[in-house]
Amino acid sequence: MKFRVKLFLFGSLSAAFIALQWSGPTFREESLKGMRVLVTGASTGIGEQVAYHYARMGAQIVITARREHVLKEVVKKCLDLGAQKALYIAADMAEMADAERVVEFAKEQLHELDYVVLNHIGPSPYGMWDADVDHVKWLMQVNFHSYVKMAVKALPVLEKTNGSLIVVSSLYGKMCLPFGLPYAATKFALNGFFGSLQHDLAMKHSNVSVTICTLGLIDTESAMEKIKGYIDMPAYPAHEAAYQIIKAGALRESEAFYPWYTFYASLFRDWFPYHRDQVIRKVYKYQP
Ligand code: NDP
Repeated sequence: MKFRVKLFLFGSLSAAFIALQWSGPTFREESLKGMRVLVTGASTGIGEQVAYHYARMGAQIVITARREHVLKEVVKKCLDLGAQKALYIAADMAEMADAERVVEFAKEQLHELDYVVLNHIGPSPYGMWDADVDHVKWLMQVNFHSYVKMAVKALPVLEKTNGSLIVVSSLYGKMCLPFGLPYAATKFALNGFFGSLQHDLAMKHSNVSVTICTLGLIDTESAMEKIKGYIDMPAYPAHEAAYQIIKAGALRESEAFYPWYTFYASLFRDWFPYHRDQVIRKVYKYQP
């Protein structure tokens, strides 16, 4: 296809996207009052901000991560912000029994579940891949297998409440980028699995909605630390990313993108392969 034709289509699709954004259903924070929510990876970063937004909106929340003392503090703040209920359970998502235990705990404590936000990620090195295959296997357990395990446990519960499963993913799960190979593998796996699950659920007329959130660079402590010296681009605020995740879940959107460029990058990733790769290799810097 000629470059000009591609540009014209790019412009038209952008206009259509903006029009869609303006004409879509509106999000009402009040609709989340009293909702029963489970958030993973909520001791810090985006998950912590997700918990605070739900708390401010008057939800009932169970949060989880590994560090108990940090979770305790987050729960305290959630209650101060207005959560109807806030509880924590410490768990290691590398252990499938823990993943199962977390959903069981949330179900028992909140009686039902309306939203399950799968957000946690295990720490992973950033830079040229060091050929550590065991790390890839471990990260798959934490970032992918535990998501599947939790979804399996949560789906029958969400079915009863017309509930929603929200999966936090990344541009790394949509296009191939350097320096985060094990992480990218886990995010592509998530997108493949939960994207296909959306079809299965729709075809059997399930009540459960699945929202996959594609995020770009967000200013969490761990992300900022990792990319230092490798990428020079703006990072967007974690509290805004968290708000967009909650909003997309409440509106039962199948996909959500934050910030804006993640939508275009995902949409046009295969249109200009040469230019795409040139831009990627300029934005990401290799330091031998
Ligand atoms: P953080 O590294 O800030 O937080 C990760 C969370 O996961 C923490 O609460 C951590 O708590 C928990 N965690 C880590 N290991 C385990 C484990 N083995 N078992 C259970 N919990 C664990 O991540 P971000 O907030 O930056 O990212 C959140 C989500 O957003 C992720 O899915 C990520 O892929 C996505 N995203 C983030 C981007 C960014 O730039 N920040 C960009 C694109 C996507 P603890 O240590 O207490 O266990």
